[in-house]
Parts: sequence; structure tokens; C-alpha cells
Amino acid sequence: MKWYQRIQIRATIFLIIVVTGIFCFALFFVLSNQINYRINSRMDEISRYAVLVASDIAMNQYIGNTGSSEYYEEVDSMAGFYQDARILVLNDQCRVLKDSANTRRGKTFINDDILTALSGQTTRAVEGIYGRIAVPILDYSDSYVVGVVYVSLSMERQYQEIQNSLDAVVLVLILTWIIICLLIGSVFMLSFKPLAKIRRWLRDVNNGHGEHPPLVRETSEYGAVVKSMDTIIADLKEADTSRKEFVSNVSHELKTPLSSIKVLTESLLLQKGAPEEIYREFLQDINSEIDRESALINDLLSLVRLEDSKSGLNLQMISMNDMAESILKRLQPLADRKQVELILENRGRVEAEVDEMKMTLALSNLVENGIKYNKEGGSVRLKVDSDFADAILTISDTGCGIAEEHFNKIYQRFYRVDKTRDRATGGTGLGLAIVHQIITMHHGSISIRSKEDVGTSFTVRIPLIAVQNAKNLAEKEEKDR
Ligand code: ADP
Repeated sequence: MKWYQRIQIRATIFLIIVVTGIFCFALFFVLSNQINYRINSRMDEISRYAVLVASDIAMNQYIGNTGSSEYYEEVDSMAGFYQDARILVLNDQCRVLKDSANTRRGKTFINDDILTALSGQTTRAVEGIYGRIAVPILDYSDSYVVGVVYVSLSMERQYQEIQNSLDAVVLVLILTWIIICLLIGSVFMLSFKPLAKIRRWLRDVNNGHGEHPPLVRETSEYGAVVKSMDTIIADLKEADTSRKEFVSNVSHELKTPLSSIKVLTESLLLQKGAPEEIYREFLQDINSEIDRESALINDLLSLVRLEDSKSGLNLQMISMNDMAESILKRLQPLADRKQVELILENRGRVEAEVDEMKMTLALSNLVENGIKYNKEGGSVRLKVDSDFADAILTISDTGCGIAEEHFNKIYQRFYRVDKTRDRATGGTGLGLAIVHQIITMHHGSISIRSKEDVGTSFTVRIPLIAVQNAKNLAEKEEKDR
């Protein structure tokens, strides 16, 4: 990742741009306020003085006189006071009677300001660094305008003063701006620091290590993110390990019957002229290995299909009594071969919303196990019952039983209590995994009670109304209310 793509750099740049904008605006505001204030004060001051001069001239009726300089002492003192102002006194014919600069005296001088003043209005205007003020001079009776006091002035000095005072303001603003930018930068760098740690950790995880998550404050948002990521990574690792284990188990299980078949055929091939009974015996063994292989493949396919259709159940209201009866009927030949009695016990009519095919597969597996792990003359009892919420199916046998330490593990794929014995019974180690998967899909539960050499009893509970429908019904009832 390039440095400018980092979130802290981007956030810092963004905030610095915002702060710079605010500072520029503040600077512009201060500058224009200062200029307006200074210029207006100066114009006000000179205007007041010009009005004084105009009333002095009016009072003393200088305009009617020849216009000799000695009548305009006030003008001279004003000009002396305001060095950068030029003061003219004009009569109503726009003739200059007095000029503080002494160059226009006796000449005619006319402009819009003077004409406005002659109409009786005081005017003032500012253009760049120059200002103009024109004040009418009224006759002694105040009834008509006899002349004009006209002042033109330069405000260069005021601009210079503003410039000097602004230098300091700008310097302070720039220093404050630098400090704020540094603060923003460091705050962002510090607050985004854990992000860099998290990135490094994820890179390590990606490279196959990174067992230890980075140390970030648990109460912060980073803490929550790291915690969730750590859980997800642990789950993924576990899933990966179980996938690898599954693949290696599958390969091993698929290879075993094949190896047996290979050994059997090779030894047959080596025995030249062997009697027919030997051939028959070997071929029977080969046949049962093929059966095992195909049972294994069938179970694997069932499991994979179940994984694929995790959310898809073909739910229908089914009579559990009928289902139990047909399962026992189908397994009767197997039970007969093992000389095991099959007993169906219906404790009332039970109907439940289930996927018929999947539920039949699950219950068949349980009954089949009851037969397989039973002893000659034993029995398997399938009891169909219900309470107000669930269908309850109990499969009890009088077989070899399962020690308690295996209870939690028997639903794992390929788990067998006694490997050699269970393989001899023709099991694949996948039956109970399939049962568990199907019952979980129905939001049901399975529990086990067993005693070695006495027997085993599995109890399956399945909601009478499928959970998804029950939820919808409850929601609908809630809405209707
Ligand atoms: P398998 O195909 O080997 O029977 P399962 O997943 O169905 O595989 O069962 C797992 C293991 O649990 C079996 O290998 C067996 O040891 C034990 N088991 C399952 N059901 C019974 C039972 N009814 N009685 C005794 N042991 C059982």
C-alpha cells in the first residue's frame, strides 16, 4: 500500500484542508474588517473637520469676499493637521477660492462630488487608497448653497499601518495553523496506529503464522474488531483442520476395501489350480469388500447432499407411526439374518412436519445400528410418542452398549467405538453423523442412554410443527393482534 493510500494520511490531509479553509476565511474576514474600520474612521474624522470648516466659512461670510487667503485660516490649520489631505474652497460658480496646495486658486474646478455638494448634500467616496469629501457651504440664513469645501486625501499611511499590524496577525495565524496541523497529524497517527498492527497481524495470518492477535485496548472499537476476527480465524482454522481430517479419513476408508480386494485377488492369482471352494470363499470376501466400499460411498454422498441442502427441507405433515412401520418392514430381512426381533410400539397417533426422505434415513440408521450392534436373540424397539410440542421417537436395543466416554464423540464423522469390531459389522462410521445432521436440520435433538453389554437407547425429539413455520405463525398472530 502506498503511503498516500493510508487512511490516517488521507484523514489528516482532509482535515488540514478544512482547517486551512477556515483560516483563510478568518484571515480574509479580519483583513477586510480592519481596512473598513480604519478607512471609515479616517473619513469620519476628516468629514467632521470639513463640516466645521464649512460652517466657519459660512458664519464669517468669507465667500462673498474677494477670496483672499487670510480669510481661510481654518483651512490652513486643517491642511497643516492633515498633511496627506488637500483642501479646496469653491464658490457656487466652481471657482477655487482657496487651495491648500496653492496650485488651483482662481481656476474653475468641477466634478460630480462638487455638483452634488452644490445641490446641498454632503458626499464622500473612497476609491482605492484615495478618498473624496465635498461639504456644502450655506449662506448665513442657511437657505442656499454659496460654495463647497472639497477635500481629497490619500490613505496610503492608513493602508501601511494596517499592513504592519496585519503582519503580526498573519504570523500568529500561520503559527496557530502549523500547530493545529501538527496536532491533527499526531492525533490521527496515534488513533490509527492499532490499524497498522491489525494489518500486520492479518498479513502474518495470511502467511500461515500470526497466532497471537495484536495488543489493542479491549474496550476500543479496534478491540471488538480484533476479537471478532480472532474468533473467525479460529473457526476457519478449525474448519480447515476438520476438512483435512475428513479428507484423510475418507481416503483411508476408501482405500481399505480396495487394499483387501487387491490382496484377495493377488493371492487367488498366485494359487494356480486352487479348488473351487477357495475361489468361492475369496470371491465372497471380495464381494463383501465391494459392498463396504459402496456403502461408504453412499453414506458419503448422503452426507455431502445434506451439507448442500442445509436450508432446503421438503417439509410435509407425515404420520410418524406409518413411517416407523415401513422402516421396520424394510429392515426386517436384516434383523432376521441377525436373529433380532423388531418391535414397534405406538403410543398414540403422531403426525409431524418433517422431510420424509431425510427423516426415514435418520431413523433407519438408528434402527440398523440397533440390529448391527445387537446379539443373537436380542431385540430393537421403536417407540413412537409425542408431547404437546415434539414427536418423540425412542430406539432401544439389547446390544453391546456404548461406554459413557464415547457419548459426545459418536456423532463425529468416522468415529467408531471399537474400530476392528465395528468395521467387521460393516459400518462406515458415518451413520450417526448423518442422523445428527438431519435432526439438527429439523431443529430437533438426540440424546443417548447406554450401558455396556445391556443395551443402548437413542431418543429423538422433532418439533411437531417445523420451526420455521412455527416462527411465521407466531409472527402472523402477533401482527393480527
Ligand atoms: P457405523 O457405520 O460404524 O455404525 P455410526 O456413525 O452409525 O457408524 O456409529 C458410530 C459408532 O457408534 C459405531 O461404530 C458404534 O461403535 C457405535 N454405535 C452406534 N450405534 C450403536 C448401538 N446401537 N449400539 C452400540 N454401539 C453403537
